Amino acid sequence: SKIWGRKKMQNQRVHVLVVTYPAQGHLNPLIQFAKRLASKKVKATVAATHYTINSIHPNSFAIEPISDGFDEGGFKQAPSVEAYLESFKTVGSRTLAELIVKFNNSGEPVSCVVYDSLLSWACDVAKEFGIHAAIMLTNSASVCSLYWQFNQGRLALPLDQETLAASVPGLPSLSFSDLPSFLAHPTSHSAYLALIMDKIRTLGKNDWVFCNSFEELESELVKALKELWPVITIGPLVPSFYLDHQIEGDTSYGASLWKQNNDQCLRWLDSKPLRSVVYVSFGSMASISTRQFEEIAWGLKASNMPFLWVTKEFEDKLLLESIDSIGERGLFVTWCNQLDVLAHQAVGCFVTHCGWNSTLEGLSLGVPMVCVPQWSDQPTNAKFVEDVWMVGVRAKKDEEGFVRREELGKCLREVMDGEKTREIKSSASKWREHAKTAVSVGGSSDRNIDEFIRKLLTGKE
Ligand code: UDP
Repeated sequence: SKIWGRKKMQNQRVHVLVVTYPAQGHLNPLIQFAKRLASKKVKATVAATHYTINSIHPNSFAIEPISDGFDEGGFKQAPSVEAYLESFKTVGSRTLAELIVKFNNSGEPVSCVVYDSLLSWACDVAKEFGIHAAIMLTNSASVCSLYWQFNQGRLALPLDQETLAASVPGLPSLSFSDLPSFLAHPTSHSAYLALIMDKIRTLGKNDWVFCNSFEELESELVKALKELWPVITIGPLVPSFYLDHQIEGDTSYGASLWKQNNDQCLRWLDSKPLRSVVYVSFGSMASISTRQFEEIAWGLKASNMPFLWVTKEFEDKLLLESIDSIGERGLFVTWCNQLDVLAHQAVGCFVTHCGWNSTLEGLSLGVPMVCVPQWSDQPTNAKFVEDVWMVGVRAKKDEEGFVRREELGKCLREVMDGEKTREIKSSASKWREHAKTAVSVGGSSDRNIDEFIRKLLTGKE
């Protein structure tokens, strides 16, 4: 309509600079958000480090480099996590400021900086220029709430490992093993924990706190967070094509740090029966041990189900032996387009580490999950998958911390063909619909994004 057309024209007056952190699970939601803005005719520019910029394929948005101080080799070049983050803060602040000046001088002034949650310093840069700032949380609202509780001293450690029942409003009762690992084992992850606590303390400086979730998914938690900070839900930040094949254009995240074996995966999946395949991935960060790898491999072999496994650079000899003995039934790839795989009709189940993106992707595409969480927020996400959203089961670990082959087999049967299967499948379909509604025109997240743009246009919060 005419009015809609005019609204879109107006939107061109807004320019949002989206500042990314160079890890796959961080790039994806931020780039996806830039694409959403672009689809609403807002000018969006993605700022990415020199080392990752060539892995991003801009179409609807522009792209500009900033520096983390390691332009040649990125994160791997840094002597430690602490050194990397410190360098990114110093060099990143400077190069981000230069970029904003460049835009201001070229007649395309930046109206708002949207930045990854690991880059709290980007807020200070935006404020120095007197422009709006919005942080993108890459965890769930529930996990963010737990970090807040910890910050307030309400999750005192050491915890009673057996029977902790954290009574946070809106959260289910949690045991120690459901907590994010940074809270459960604070001393082993002190750099990350310090960063998270710093972020939590400064959330109030932002004009918006974006949460990659949707109101229906974590309604009570979102309500509680809104009391503390200007939180809005804008997710799931999954390309709309995969949620609703009617929407044109938006077919992929637009960034891949690894080369994908996509044609091979899809050809292989095409040859498999409906909902028969187990898709296995532990995301981009977690590296599983040889022993755990082996247990999963033998669990899959015993299940008799076909499987597609993303192994990244796992090069252990045992892997090769496992491949030999598993034969035709399994396909190992180093990396794939996970959304294409999850959307494929041959896939019946997702064995996942429960990174927040993977969890949202499985949920939004309606694929039942077997959770094998490793660290970070993954245990908490797994708890929600099993007990709150009821779209999967969580594999139990033995005393040494491994998911054994028998346990994996039991979980696969439960999800694919057991007593709980029907309930899990029906919850999975329900959440797929809710996710789609949230990001479709007029849905809760879509309205929140429109409102954000409107406020940038009118200058009012
Ligand atoms: N992913 C992918 N191909 C793969 C495995 C993962 O594209 O073979 C994507 C996946 O779709 C998700 C991201 O990588 O968007 C991983 O993010 P997540 O938060 O799940 O885990 P992390 O890698 O941060 O641990």
